[in-house]
Amino acid sequence: MLILLVEDDQPLAASIAGALGAQGWRVDISPLGEPVPASLMRDDYDALILDIGLPGIDGLETLRRVRAQGSRLPVLMLTARDTVEQRVHGLEVGADDYLVKPFAPVELVARLRALTRRHENRVAEVLSVARLRFDPKALRAWVGDEPVKLSRRECDILQYLMLKAGRVVQREQLVTLVPGWSGATSDNALDLLVSRLRTKIEPAGVRLRTVRGLGYLLDAGDDA
Ligand code: CA
Repeated sequence: MLILLVEDDQPLAASIAGALGAQGWRVDISPLGEPVPASLMRDDYDALILDIGLPGIDGLETLRRVRAQGSRLPVLMLTARDTVEQRVHGLEVGADDYLVKPFAPVELVARLRALTRRHENRVAEVLSVARLRFDPKALRAWVGDEPVKLSRRECDILQYLMLKAGRVVQREQLVTLVPGWSGATSDNALDLLVSRLRTKIEPAGVRLRTVRGLGYLLDAGDDA
């Protein structure tokens, strides 16, 4: 697992990173919340650990921005005080779990495991839009009852679009899904991939629209 830890208390950050490292997990540390939304677009993290008390924008505002850009990443918040207001506010802006300082590293590890497992189960449900169905676990898709052949990349892109059906997905977000893709060369490759995908899935009554200057939008077509 690759984890992003946002904590401005350096000794604490180092001790958390040590505990997670002992599990074989990789950890990136950021002392600030500001760069987090961009980091999540760039790197393929499995979970985010977010301290509430940070210099600059605090953990709650950081999380609000992360969720606003459409990220469903599991988020564990760290708080210095166990106040009801903080807890409620955190859950409202999209935290998945809470840990009150001071805590034992083993508890942090256990909570993270539970959180990522829950997340995987959620993602593993079969997705459907109109007569299009996709099973993220088996990487299989159907138009009605007919199986559709998709490449691994097409599966990754389709899953993301289906999770966000009805909302515009930015091109940059899709590009980050494909390992090795970056910059202008990936633009053409993405257009090509989307147009192939469109041909395969639109018989299911869905529409995969290009939103000029923004990205793509998958929804149930008018006749669905
Ligand atoms: Ca702090």
